[in-house]
Amino acid sequence: MKILVYCISLSYVFILCNPVLAQRVKFSPEVSFSQDTNVINISKIWSNYVDSYSIQHTDSLRKCLWYQETADILTYSLGAKAIFYNSCSHFTFSIRKIDERLYEINSIAQSESLPETEPVIFKIYKLLAIEVNGKYKLFNYFDWKKQSLNHYDGGSIVFYFSPLLNFDENKFRESIQFVEMFKKCYDIDDNELITYIIAGSMDECWALLGVPYTIVHSEKRYAGYTIYPRTVLSSRPDHIHELVHAIMLPHYQYASSFMHEGIATYYGGTSNYSFEHHVRNMQRYIKENDIDFSNIEELRMIDNIYGETPLFNTVSALVVEYVIKEQGYKKLLSLFECDNSQAVFEKLGMSNSNTNNWIIQLIERNE
Ligand SMILES: [Zn+2]
Repeated sequence: MKILVYCISLSYVFILCNPVLAQRVKFSPEVSFSQDTNVINISKIWSNYVDSYSIQHTDSLRKCLWYQETADILTYSLGAKAIFYNSCSHFTFSIRKIDERLYEINSIAQSESLPETEPVIFKIYKLLAIEVNGKYKLFNYFDWKKQSLNHYDGGSIVFYFSPLLNFDENKFRESIQFVEMFKKCYDIDDNELITYIIAGSMDECWALLGVPYTIVHSEKRYAGYTIYPRTVLSSRPDHIHELVHAIMLPHYQYASSFMHEGIATYYGGTSNYSFEHHVRNMQRYIKENDIDFSNIEELRMIDNIYGETPLFNTVSALVVEYVIKEQGYKKLLSLFECDNSQAVFEKLGMSNSNTNNWIIQLIERNE
């Protein structure tokens, strides 16, 4: 089975890795001076939640202020080290009535303003407030939206997709079987469900979640993304690269992205091509170019070779392949204890002086 995938770089995660205490949510004049008592109440609830959350995130707080005990999309982050709440401020620009029971709260999450720097907008997002027994509670936008979507519930994955899309059921089953096989292989014992959202593009998936803009956006049809911990966004039901992230990220939150991208690319390819395709590109590339692989992190900065192959992901997948074939799954998992690529190479007995030659050997041994 040829697997075509694309994954947005995890490097965005580093933008958000320096937590500072979250600020209170700020409101636009439209909200602040609203005469609608519901808007006034909802803005208080929302503000309370943001304030309390920055001090202590507890389930009881969620139970008290949220409708239903569902995942709160706002606690989703780009990675375990990059919780939105800890690193950005929130600006709520409108709270508008949708129907008799529902209001829509529209906000922007952005980096803290520093003198002489423009804030970075992380996302524009919406959530809802729903009236329950005369009181308003916060309501996850997707929990409301998904009622109008089709779904396929198959054990370890729940797929949601537009009623306009049609898929061969076998594609859903293949993904579910892959997850089961992968977990067994790596001894991952959990019954956690993966939420898998399918739409025409990644941006359309975000829109279903109530996120019309995010820093990790893409209009590409083949783009995929995994929202930590276990929500996959894709335009197709068999996005193996993202499924590997959805299984591995929650269990190895602090492992280096070198290992996460390596294992996901080894099993599922990346950037719309299979791992084998990328290795063939690499074989051609090293014949035509002088490249030094000694500094792995610098490979992230190089554009995809031949417009197709990301060097960082492909090198990491070659290392994963080598370890699986030569040293086994247990050894591979031990490398997920390393939080940076240099530590991975040290654990494999490599030094700066022999890394380059070793990687070239890994590329050539696939010829
Ligand atoms: Zn990836």
